[in-house]
Amino acid sequence: MSSKKHWSPGSDVAVQSVERSERGGWIVSGVLAPNGICPDCGLHSRRRHGWRRRRLQDYPAHGDEVTVDLAICRWRCQAPACPRRTFSDQIASIARPFARRTSRVGEIVTHLGHATGGRPAERLLHRLGLGVSDDTVLRQLKNRAQDSGESPTVIGIDDWSWRKSQTYG
Ligand SMILES: [Zn+2]
Repeated sequence: MSSKKHWSPGSDVAVQSVERSERGGWIVSGVLAPNGICPDCGLHSRRRHGWRRRRLQDYPAHGDEVTVDLAICRWRCQAPACPRRTFSDQIASIARPFARRTSRVGEIVTHLGHATGGRPAERLLHRLGLGVSDDTVLRQLKNRAQDSGESPTVIGIDDWSWRKSQTYG
């Protein structure tokens, strides 16, 4: 049981199973834990309203890609006085909204992108077992820069890539 913990993308995820995928990678299935706690009133709900899957690319293992497959539940708040009727389990500690990879993979993509630029970062990431396109690297840099208000840095990186590709024809 404890060995499964090592596959968790964060302390808020309880891993249920780890399996080989058809493509030769790993599929880590898990749920958020604790779950079912209303963000408004803090009451623990036991009435599940529905659920959906969220797939995220995570750190590779033994050079193979790892996909975290999370079951994200939607709950009905049972507190009569609470203004919230339903709520979802939060994965903010694991990934950003609409992200296709965990935040910790996003960090690596950002650091490599900053250090080397889009194309070299793409090649290095593939060697590390992280299939990420150069477009994704640049998008990741833009998103991070927007968050921290550093947009001039991003313009510099785009500019640099463009000029480099020109130089090398
Ligand atoms: Zn509530």
